[in-house]
Amino acid sequence: MLFSPTDPATAAGDPGVYRTLLESTRAIPWRIDWATMGFSYIGPQIEALLGWSQSSWLSANDWIERIHEEDRQKTVDFCIAQSQQGIDHEADYRALTRDGDYVWIRDVVHVVRREDGSVDSLVGFMFDITERKQAEDKILQLQRELEVLSYRDSLTNVANRRMFDTLYPVEWAKARATGEPLSVVVIDIDYFKQYNDHYGHVQGDECLRRVARALDEGASRSRDLCARLGGEEFVLLLPATDEAAARNVAERCRKLLAHKALPHARSGVGRTVTVSAGVGTIVPGEHDDPHVFLDRVDRRLYQAKSSGRDRICDAEA
Ligand code: GH3
Ligand code: MG
Ligand code: MG
Repeated sequence: MLFSPTDPATAAGDPGVYRTLLESTRAIPWRIDWATMGFSYIGPQIEALLGWSQSSWLSANDWIERIHEEDRQKTVDFCIAQSQQGIDHEADYRALTRDGDYVWIRDVVHVVRREDGSVDSLVGFMFDITERKQAEDKILQLQRELEVLSYRDSLTNVANRRMFDTLYPVEWAKARATGEPLSVVVIDIDYFKQYNDHYGHVQGDECLRRVARALDEGASRSRDLCARLGGEEFVLLLPATDEAAARNVAERCRKLLAHKALPHARSGVGRTVTVSAGVGTIVPGEHDDPHVFLDRVDRRLYQAKSSGRDRICDAEA
């Protein structure tokens, strides 16, 4: 055993009682002598936790080397800086086990000073916080997944209205700042009520998925967004896209859908599923309003509907 009469475990009162107490807690006590940077004590529980024997903890270096590489520098820098200033502190880090695994440790450190204020030693407890860290990681992961899910339309798997509502003002502001044109395409499936009535809702849902896929494919640049606004209505948000390019995107979507040739026995415009679209492009100025612009594009969609469906209306129409 490593202990001398100056061990914290034997320093006062009945040494047997103190040692039993210290060595039977789940927290692992230790002490480092500041002048020599050597361990003058570490609880025997360390071996059960990390696999390294009690006698293998000789210097602060043994501790440093057994910190996960990614945590090592910042943990050591922090602990040394705090200790030098005489500040009690806590550090969370991953400690390496003898079999090459790691355990999350919370080290709670108390700085023991002499009467003249100089640092005498560090005493602390290591706590195994692996389970807590794993739970925290799981929660973070679930939160991220939820965030992703809450911006996705569960039926079609494209972005949802919430995503559009979030991104539209951002792209608007960006277009205002850069002077690049921003385009919006609003798209609605033609005679979709009749489709549902004829083929049923399950088939209707499948149709929505296929239309969404065609639109998502049509809006193919990395900053393009295809979102389902609700029902059988979709929107494409096309940053840095001028009028001609936006019209091309809308045409490409229409062609991709036509290529799928989804049968629609009750359509008023043909034998397959078609869409109508309104297209608008703007370089937003100081007095422009994103809602007003969206209304204008929406009116073009209705123009496309009233002038026969299966078509695209833009500013020229
Ligand atoms: P128009 O050509 O003028 O757009 O006519 P429409 O029949 O497509 O438009 P209307 O707004 O009258 O009907 C839309 C239909 O879309 C009504 C509803 O049955 C259907 N619909 C809306 N959401 C869903 C959905 O999530 N799943 C399915 N299967 N159908 C939906
Ligand atoms: Mg419709
Ligand atoms: Mg509609």
